[in-house]
Amino acid sequence: MRTYETIAQLRQALNPARRAGHRIGFVPTMGALHEGHWSLVSQARRSCDEVVVSIFVNPLQFGPGEDMGSYPQTLERDLDGCARHGCDRVFTPSPRQMYPDHTLTRVAVRRLGEPLCGQARKGHFEGVATVVCKLFNVVGPDAAFFGEKDFQQLVIIRRMAHDLNMPVEIVGCPTVREPDGLAVSSRNVHLDADQRSRATSIAAALGEAAEFASHGQREVPQLIAHVRERIAQAGPVQIEYVEVVDPETLEALEVIDQPARMCVAAKYGSVRLIDNMPLDVAGEA
Ligand code: AMP
Repeated sequence: MRTYETIAQLRQALNPARRAGHRIGFVPTMGALHEGHWSLVSQARRSCDEVVVSIFVNPLQFGPGEDMGSYPQTLERDLDGCARHGCDRVFTPSPRQMYPDHTLTRVAVRRLGEPLCGQARKGHFEGVATVVCKLFNVVGPDAAFFGEKDFQQLVIIRRMAHDLNMPVEIVGCPTVREPDGLAVSSRNVHLDADQRSRATSIAAALGEAAEFASHGQREVPQLIAHVRERIAQAGPVQIEYVEVVDPETLEALEVIDQPARMCVAAKYGSVRLIDNMPLDVAGEA
């Protein structure tokens, strides 16, 4: 496994593979790598000849009130894990390498960045789409792997690649969960024991809503009320949103008569967690 800090070095290293017609798989990350990330790497490993991982905490996607400085940095452990999980190349650029001057260009996927997490995190998805676009231009992947855990992000990247005719397949990968259901996240380490135990109610509530829907509950307000109540019952929490949306347009639904995704964001102290699950229409599950 090789690591690269500059765009020029990585491009040069990937040229022979590209000329040889190798399929390049790409997994963009912000580091603090865990089982969720490794599942993306495994999927890339299975379907590609070369696996490239990037580790870059992107300043552009953090808002003014969000402390990028507290984002966990575990580079040595991450590189070790990358080697063990079969990555071929790891790109670890500095902020200066990615944004050497005052860049004026931004990629905005209109409408899709506004609902759900876009409400509390203004400009976040513009930062995400811009850095992913830049990374795609650097790596030139045939396929890029993203987790369904960050469902809105996956939908936005898919739409960006489609709208801008990017020659890359966007592959969505299922959410990896702890044994008690909590979606694995680098933020989980910031939860204290009580918060950690309360946070399991998010996945439990989503699972129950999915089950109700599969048994015929099509009324979204009822499903949302159940999820809110279930999460609140577990103890102190600040629920940011519980919504059911169309999985492509992210428009809010009132009735489940089509594919639907239930999405939740909730804060335990200063730790903001997100999760989501598909809701299947009764009879079609
Ligand atoms: P991050 O490093 O948090 O920006 O995440 C990098 C990629 O890993 C994104 O595509 C995430 O959706 C994905 N990811 C993070 N957590 C999980 C998880 N628990 N299961 C599956 N994918 C995940």
